[in-house]
Amino acid sequence: MKVIRSIEELQLDGAVGLVPTMGALHAGHVSLFEAARTENDVVVASLFVNPAQFDEQADLARYPRDEGRDIEIAEHAGVDVLFAPPVREMYPDGFATWVVPDDIGAESAARPGHFRGVATVCVKLFNIVRPVRAYFGQKDAEQVVVIRRLVRDLNLDVEIRALPTVRDADGLALSSRNVRLSPEERTRALGLPRALAKAAASSDPVAAARAELNGLDPDYVELLDVDGATILAAAVRIGSTRLIDNVLVKGALP
Ligand code: AMP
Repeated sequence: MKVIRSIEELQLDGAVGLVPTMGALHAGHVSLFEAARTENDVVVASLFVNPAQFDEQADLARYPRDEGRDIEIAEHAGVDVLFAPPVREMYPDGFATWVVPDDIGAESAARPGHFRGVATVCVKLFNIVRPVRAYFGQKDAEQVVVIRRLVRDLNLDVEIRALPTVRDADGLALSSRNVRLSPEERTRALGLPRALAKAAASSDPVAAARAELNGLDPDYVELLDVDGATILAAAVRIGSTRLIDNVLVKGALP
């Protein structure tokens, strides 16, 4: 696996699958690498903690980083090229053009500017890497909706693949931010997937999830349409860590 830091060095042949990540890799990321490995000639993973998508500076400062470990995980999962640019390579002096999606659901409303950062960095990565396919996790369901709409609205020539959420054995969705949870917070965090799973079959999933979340204070609980399927999505704060999760309520995710 090559580790590449500059856009200039990135020269790729064949059908490329791109997996955008912010590092602190876990089995959720690996599932995307493995899918990309089976469907493309070349697998590129980006490792870029994108400052533009952090609506809270404290979250950016505390975001877990361990490049040495990420390199090992990516290489083991069959990634060919790890594109890990410094911030100035992606946002040089004078950078002034942004892709600003309209708000879609509660996550965009709760995190002003977040999807502007996501959409902008994804368009840049698509143009830099020129992938045939790009891979995203259903865990960030509203992100998938934003990216699919971005591709459609701006006529981008890339297929968006969305893969199921990978969970720990106890049900907690894997997230780079989970390492920040104390053992006691992690136990409380299990209330989120449990509430969503229990509420999914209810006639009023939002009310049921709110009731099941007792003790956890949600940023939001909402039903979101994802390409004709309905998901139940929520965000909660456990101490200083914000976690999101969602489950399918109706239909099938593409
Ligand atoms: P991140 O590094 O958090 O920006 O995530 C990079 C990609 O991995 C995004 O498309 C996420 O949706 C996806 N991802 C994160 N956690 C999981 C998970 N538990 N299962 C599947 N995909 C995930």
